[in-house]
Parts: sequence; C-alpha cells; structure tokens
Amino acid sequence: MRILLVEDDEALASEIARALRAENCAVDVARDGEDGLHLGDTERYDAAVLDLGLPKVDGLSVLAAWRKAGRDLPVLILTARDAWSEKVAGFKAGADDYLTKPFRIEEVVMRLRALVRRAAGHAAARITCGRLGYDTQLGHFDLDGLPLKLTAFEWRVLSALMLRREVVVDRGELIERVYEYDADNDSNSLEVIVARLRRKIGAEMIETVRGRGYRLTAGEGNPA
Ligand code: CA
Repeated sequence: MRILLVEDDEALASEIARALRAENCAVDVARDGEDGLHLGDTERYDAAVLDLGLPKVDGLSVLAAWRKAGRDLPVLILTARDAWSEKVAGFKAGADDYLTKPFRIEEVVMRLRALVRRAAGHAAARITCGRLGYDTQLGHFDLDGLPLKLTAFEWRVLSALMLRREVVVDRGELIERVYEYDADNDSNSLEVIVARLRRKIGAEMIETVRGRGYRLTAGEGNPA
C-alpha cells in the first residue's frame, strides 16, 4: 500500500507519515499543491491524503484536476476547515472521505484502509485465499489460522496481491505500489521479496506469469 500525503504542515506531515510507515505503508510526502498534483499525475498510489490549505495550488484544485484527468485514486481530505459548505465542496470536487483537524492518527489509518479495500472491490473486511487470510481493517495476515509475520516490503507485496487474488498483477504496477518515490530498492527487489514470501506461505501460492507479473492463487480445484 502506497500513500500520497499532501500536507504543508511539516510536523503534521511527519507524524502522519511515521504512523503510516509503522503500519507498513510506503508514503510519499508533498509539501505544496503543485508537487502533490504532479506526484498524483505521474505515480501510482493506493490512496491520497490531501490537505486543503496548501501553497501554490490549493487542495480542492488539486483534487478537481486529478478527477478531470480521470485519476480515480481514493482521496481523503484532511483539513482544519470544518464548515458544512467546505465539506460539500470537497465531495463535489471528488473526495471519497473527509476528516477535520484535530483528529486521531489511528482514524486516518482506519479510513485509508477502508477506502483502499473498497476501491479494490471488497465489501467485507476479511479476504481469504486458500490457507491465507487477510484482515484489511487491522492489516493482519494469517496462515492456517496462525498470525503471519511479515516485513514492511513483504506486507506491501502480499497485500497488493491479496486485494486482487486470483488475478495477475502487473509487475510494474506492483513495483509502484511497493516502493517510495526515492527508494533505493537493491536489497529489497521485487524478486527477492516474492522469494521470501514463497518461503513463508508456500511457493505454489504465488504464481509467476512470465512477461506480465504475479498472481496469488489458492490453486486449482481450491478456489478462494
Ligand atoms: Ca495546510
């Protein structure tokens, strides 16, 4: 799960980024609307957290520009503006959710998880694939009913595959959902992460589709 955070308050941005990374997410932070607009246009994110009062380009304009360009990523507006009319303007511009400051960081995380899950087409919080279970709301995986321990990179890859289980996820897309913008990913290349995951959950569960990407599968005759 990779999140774009557009927030000009440095202390708040650091706090949110830290909390999201502690929950295994990759986070890119933009400090003004221009930078945020550009990142949302050129990189792939699972969701964006967007402040409204931003330097250079305000949040509503950023959101409206993304929607006009057909970018459908879920957007959670995070702002000090709590007037009813502001919220209506936010939703009209294409917001998926709206949270006013002050807020609890846990709530941001919970709302983002729900948005990402819904965007992937899952109504229920729990997703299963054979022996593997994923609680999308808590971010926990289990294998044969026992908790599965994962590194942040492993979690990002497995959660992306799990949200689209039994479907081939394009290699390039997977890479974009796993690494931060300026990541040095030598020791955590996608192939290395997939190999480690296979050792943990069983090699047969992650199928390599040559020239395309990977598919998480419960195997033939054992549909999820
Ligand atoms: Ca602001």
